[in-house]
Amino acid sequence: MKLSELRNGQTGIIIKVRGRGAFRRRIIEMGFVKGKEINLVKYAPLNDPIEFNILNYEVSLRKSEAERIEIILKDDLERIENQGFKIMETVNPDPSIEEINEKIKEINVVIVGNPNSGKTTLFNYVSGLQERVGNYSGVTVTSKTASFKHKGYKIILTDLPGTYSLSAYSPEELYVRRYILEEIPDIVINVVDASNLERNLYLSTQLIDMDVKVIIALNMYDELIAKGDRFNYIELGMKLGIPFTATVSSKGKGINRLFDKVIDFYEDQLPNIRHIHLHYGDETEKAISCIQEQLKPNFLLTDKISSRFLALKLLEKDKDAEKIIQECENSEKIIQTTAKQIKHLESSFNDDIEVILADARYGFIVGAVKEHYREGNHNRRKVSQNIDSVLTHKFFGYPVFILFLILMFQSTFSLGAYPQALIERMVSYIHEFFNNIMNDGMLKDLITDGIINGVGGVVVFLPNILVLFFFISIMEDTGYMARVAFIMDKLMHKIGMHGKSFIPMLMGFGCNVPAIMATRTIESKNDRLLTMLINPFMSCSARLPVYILIVGAFFPKNPSIYLFAIYFVGILIAILSAILFKKTILKTSEVPFVMELPPYRIPMLKSSLKHMWNKGKQYLSKMGGVILVASILIWSLGYFPRNSSLTSKFDLQSQKFKTEASSLKSQKYISVEEKFKIKQIENKIDSIVLLKEAVRLQYSYIGKIGHFISPVMEPLGLNWKMGVAIFSGVAAKEVVVSTLAVLHQVQYSEKSETIQQKLHNEIYTQGKFIGQPVYSPLVAFTFLLFILLYFPCIATIVAIKNESGSWKWALFSMLYTTGVAWLISFIFYQSGKLLGF
Ligand code: GDP
Ligand code: MG
Repeated sequence: MKLSELRNGQTGIIIKVRGRGAFRRRIIEMGFVKGKEINLVKYAPLNDPIEFNILNYEVSLRKSEAERIEIILKDDLERIENQGFKIMETVNPDPSIEEINEKIKEINVVIVGNPNSGKTTLFNYVSGLQERVGNYSGVTVTSKTASFKHKGYKIILTDLPGTYSLSAYSPEELYVRRYILEEIPDIVINVVDASNLERNLYLSTQLIDMDVKVIIALNMYDELIAKGDRFNYIELGMKLGIPFTATVSSKGKGINRLFDKVIDFYEDQLPNIRHIHLHYGDETEKAISCIQEQLKPNFLLTDKISSRFLALKLLEKDKDAEKIIQECENSEKIIQTTAKQIKHLESSFNDDIEVILADARYGFIVGAVKEHYREGNHNRRKVSQNIDSVLTHKFFGYPVFILFLILMFQSTFSLGAYPQALIERMVSYIHEFFNNIMNDGMLKDLITDGIINGVGGVVVFLPNILVLFFFISIMEDTGYMARVAFIMDKLMHKIGMHGKSFIPMLMGFGCNVPAIMATRTIESKNDRLLTMLINPFMSCSARLPVYILIVGAFFPKNPSIYLFAIYFVGILIAILSAILFKKTILKTSEVPFVMELPPYRIPMLKSSLKHMWNKGKQYLSKMGGVILVASILIWSLGYFPRNSSLTSKFDLQSQKFKTEASSLKSQKYISVEEKFKIKQIENKIDSIVLLKEAVRLQYSYIGKIGHFISPVMEPLGLNWKMGVAIFSGVAAKEVVVSTLAVLHQVQYSEKSETIQQKLHNEIYTQGKFIGQPVYSPLVAFTFLLFILLYFPCIATIVAIKNESGSWKWALFSMLYTTGVAWLISFIFYQSGKLLGF
C-alpha cells in the first residue's frame, strides 16, 4: 500500500521509495529508508499535507509525496514472521502472506531502446511470451508487461515501443516519456544495439538527462565481436555513472547477469553509480540554469521531473513540456525566460536550437565511444552495402522485388496445396465420422453441415496462410522488408501514403486480417486508419476460387487477363480511395520519419518458423470464434424454416427409387444391365436430393433474403441466387462458391465444369426477363466486380475494429466497401448494356 493510505493508529514499514533523484535523496535523508517504522500523526485540514512520525520525530509530507512511498502494515509483517514457523506445518500457507512477501521484493523494470535493438527478443526470453520481433522499426507500438522471478525477486517487466529519442515528436516517443515520468519504474533497461552504438546512445543521453535509474544492456554484442571490434564498456560505464552489461538476447546470453545487476541496482548495491550531467557547452548550460532557476520553486513539479530535463525540453520547444509547466504559478515567466534564451542561443550559434542540442549530444557520444572503442576491419557493413546496391537500386530494386513477390504468391499456392489437400481430407473424414455415428436430425445437420463444413472451409486455408506468413517473417527477419518499404516510399508518396503502408497492402493479397494487424507498424494514426480502410480492396486469396469459377466459365479464352484486370481494379479503387480519404476525412500533415535500413541478418529458421506459427495461431484463435458463429448463422438461415409440404414430394420420389434400387440389389444374380440400371437410379436419387435442397433453400430464410435484396441487385444484372451467394460471402468469401454450388444443385466436390455448365444454362424463370439467360459475360464480370469490392468479411471487420479501437471505423468500412461495390458495378453494368454488350 501507499503511505498516503496509512490510517490513524497504524504503523507501517517502508518498503520502497519511488521517485527520482532529488526527491528520493531528500526523502531518504529525512529518514525514509527501507525497513523503518512510520506512524500517522494527523492529517492537515484539507487532508494535505500529512504529518508522520518517523525515527521519533515528526515530519510532514505532501500527499503527492506520500503516494510515492510504499509500505506494508506492521501487523501484516508480524503475521509473516510468526507464521514463518507455521508455514512448514500447514500445507496451504495464507496466500496474503505470499502476496506481502512478493510485494517487498518487487521491482518494476521497463525496457526502452531504439526500434530493432532487440527489446522484444529480450522481453520474450525472460517472460517466455511470444511477442512479435522483427527486423524493421516499430513492431512494438503498445507496451507489454510480464512478470517473472529472479533471485527471489519478482520482476515486473514492461516492453515499451522503440524510439530514437524522447522528444515529443512521435506518439511512441511521447508514450515512452510519459510512461517513465508517470509510472516511475524502479529501473530502466536501455537496450542498445552494440553494432550501431552512436545512434543508439542518443536515447541514452536523454535518459541521463531525465535522471532515472538506467542500466544499459549492450545488446547484439555478438555482432560487435563478429566485426572484430573491441569495446571497453566497463570503463565507459564508470565514466557515465551508468552500469553497462553485454547481452545477446537472441541467444539468451548475458541476461541473467543483466537482471542480477537490476537487483543490485535496486538495492543500491552497485559501485560507481552517480548522476552525471551531459555538458551542452557553456552558452547552452547558462541558458539551462536560467530556466532551471525559474522552475526550481515549483517543488511539486521538480520532485517528479528533473528540472534540468524540463529546462532542456523547454529549450527544444517541446509542446508537451510547455503543457506541463502550465500548472506552475510562474508559467508566464518561465515561457518568457525560455523564449529569451532560445533567441539568444539561436542567434549566437546561427542555427536551430534543436540542432544545437542534438549536436552537443552527438558530440558527447562520439567522444565517449571513441575513447573506448577499437574498430576491427569492417566488412559486414560492406556486405550490407553491396547487397543494398542491388536490392534498393533505382531500377533493379523493382524487378528483384517483383520476382520475390511472384515467388511468394506462387509458393503460397503450390506449397500450401499439399497440406491443404490433407486438411480437406481430414475435414471430410470428420464429417463422415459424425455422419455415421449420429442419428439423422437437426443436431446432426448442424454439426456436420453447419460447424464442420463451415469451420473446415476456413481451416483449409491455414497452410496457405502459414506459407505466406513464413515469407513475410523471413522478409522481416532478414531486413528485406525495410528495403521494400524504402523503395516503395516514393511511389506511395504520390498517393499521400508512405512506404510502410505498402507492406500491409501487400499482405492483403494473402489475407486482409493479418494485413490489418500489420498496420500497427505505421506511426501516424491517420495513416494507419487509411491503410486499414483501403486494405479490403486488395483482393484476398479467399476470393480467388470465385474468380476462377466465373472466369473459367465465361472468359475461357484469356483467363489470366481477366484475372489480372480484377486485381488491377482492386488496386485502382484502393488508390483512388486513399486519395479521397486523404483529402477529406483523414487529413494529416506529413510526419517525416527515418527510413532506417538495418543491417541484413541471416534469419534463424527456428525463430522465423516461430513467428509464422504465432501468426497462424492468432488467425485460428481469434477468427475461429467469429467464423464459427457466422457459419452457424449462415447455416441456420439456409436450414430454416423446415417446410415439409415443399419437400415431401421429393422425399416420396427418392423413397420410390430407393426401394426400386434395393429390390434390384437384393437379387441373387445381378446382370450387367441391372448393374447399369442401379447406377442410373442412384444418380437420379442424387439429383432429387439436390433439387430438393435447392427448392428448400429458395424458401429458406436465406432464400427469402436473396429475393428481398434482389431489387437492389437487379440494376446490376444479378439474380437472387447471386444475391444469396453475395450475402453468404459476408461470413467468408470462400462460402460464395459453395453457396452457388448448392443453389445450382451441384455437389461442391464435383468437378467445377458441372457448375460452370449450370451457370451457362441458367435462365430467368419469372419476371420481365423470363426465358432469357441469366449470365452473360457482362453480368459475370459485374458479379466479379461486386465480389471484389464489397464487404470484406466478418473477420476483417473484427480486425479493423480491434486495430482502430472502435466500431466506428469497422462500420464505416462495411458501408464504404459495399457502397463502392454497388456503385462501380452499377456504372459498369449499365454502361456495358448501353454499349450493347
Ligand atoms: P525491438 O524492435 O527492439 O523489439 O527488436 P526485436 O526484439 O524485434 O529484434 C530485432 C531483430 O534483432 C530480430 O530479428 C532479433 O532476432 C534480432 N536480435 C535480437 N537480439 C539480438 C542479438 O543479441 N544478436 C543478434 N545477432 N540479433 C539479435
Ligand atoms: Mg519490439
